[in-house]
Amino acid sequence: MEFQSFLIKYAEIGVKGKNRYIFEDKLVSQIVRALRQVDGEFEVWKTSGRIYVDAKSEYDFDEVIDALKHVFGIVGICPLLQIEDQGFEDLCRKVVSYIDKRYPDKKMTFKVVARRARKNYPVDSNYINAKLGEAILMAFPEIRVNVHNPDIYVNVEIREQINIYTEVIPGPGGMPLGTNGKAMLLLSGGIDSPVAGYMISKRGVSLDAVYFHAPPYTSDRAKQKVVDLARQVSRYSGPIHLHVVNFTDIQLYIYEQCPHDELTIIMRRYMMKIAEHLAKENGCLALITGESIGQVASQTMQSLTVTNEVCTIPVMRPVIAFDKQDIVDIAEKIGTYETSIQPYEDCCTIFVAKHPVTKPNLNVIRGSELKLQEKIDELMEAALSSIETICIE
Ligand code: ATP
Ligand code: MG
Repeated sequence: MEFQSFLIKYAEIGVKGKNRYIFEDKLVSQIVRALRQVDGEFEVWKTSGRIYVDAKSEYDFDEVIDALKHVFGIVGICPLLQIEDQGFEDLCRKVVSYIDKRYPDKKMTFKVVARRARKNYPVDSNYINAKLGEAILMAFPEIRVNVHNPDIYVNVEIREQINIYTEVIPGPGGMPLGTNGKAMLLLSGGIDSPVAGYMISKRGVSLDAVYFHAPPYTSDRAKQKVVDLARQVSRYSGPIHLHVVNFTDIQLYIYEQCPHDELTIIMRRYMMKIAEHLAKENGCLALITGESIGQVASQTMQSLTVTNEVCTIPVMRPVIAFDKQDIVDIAEKIGTYETSIQPYEDCCTIFVAKHPVTKPNLNVIRGSELKLQEKIDELMEAALSSIETICIE
């Protein structure tokens, strides 16, 4: 069965008062962007609290639904039968024929839900519910009504045209991209950070990303894995500028100068400093990490506090209270899991101590960092001036 149109349902953005049109316009432009990746021509338009996608050519149904499922702000996608108002009898006939085609085996219960948005339609919604229900029962004796828990709702909206739909395919929810500024994601090759980026982006935040690369200790394949992850996240978040920082010399210098059990924590403080610098340079208002309390030594409450201390902009840690399995579930849903578990080395694990501190003391760490005074500024500058930026569309 071919649908010419889709009704797009959105929730939260409906309640933003005077700003509402801004949110709706962003959602429309994000839908347009998503559909550009699909074969076919589409028109996306809005009218009084409704957004429609009209197909203007042949298209692949599954491709369109898949594209729309990646657009934040959409809560439901309803394949739509749109008809002209040619009287109530005609409406009944067309709904019956629609059900016949859409549900060939008819093993189901239903309920009609009519809404009369155009008040000059000659019959009211109660009448439509009752009479259309009757017409369906007469046409298909095997179908039953169930007003409390039907298998399908036959939705009928009387507007200038009449919208009929029985399916609401869930969208990702959230808020349209571009409604909440931009943040810098610290993207490693692991499971957690892509999920963290997805979660913040879901609230309408665009993303830039930074990856700390340590060649030759980390390979080109490890870097490619991060590029692949950024691409997967960008299907939701829109284009990402991925900044690849060569972190090797800084890491080696810390390794030479500082106690090895403090290496990870000191290294993480320098990562955050560089990420914050890049964030400010690129108009990002916050950092995002995939940290989760207690997951590893560098993520105890004490470690997180010491790491956080170098930052002056907010650090968002959306998976902070998640169990690993909860994070894995999201990674699987958004399609990053398979890439994340590919076995490539990470710069955090290369020089890792056997017994890293789990309760670092800020003053002790600062004391150790004094041993870096001679060369660290120079090395930071070198790292910042040799960044490779990859544009991921
Ligand atoms: P992930 O699964 O995201 O790699 P993790 O459980 O391995 O996280 P860590 O290695 O301690 O945890 O890293 C914590 C967070 O620090 C990551 O979620 C990520 O945001 C950031 N991070 C770690 N390594 C890098 C890296 N090489 N480049 C960029 N960010 C990194
Ligand atoms: Mg990691």
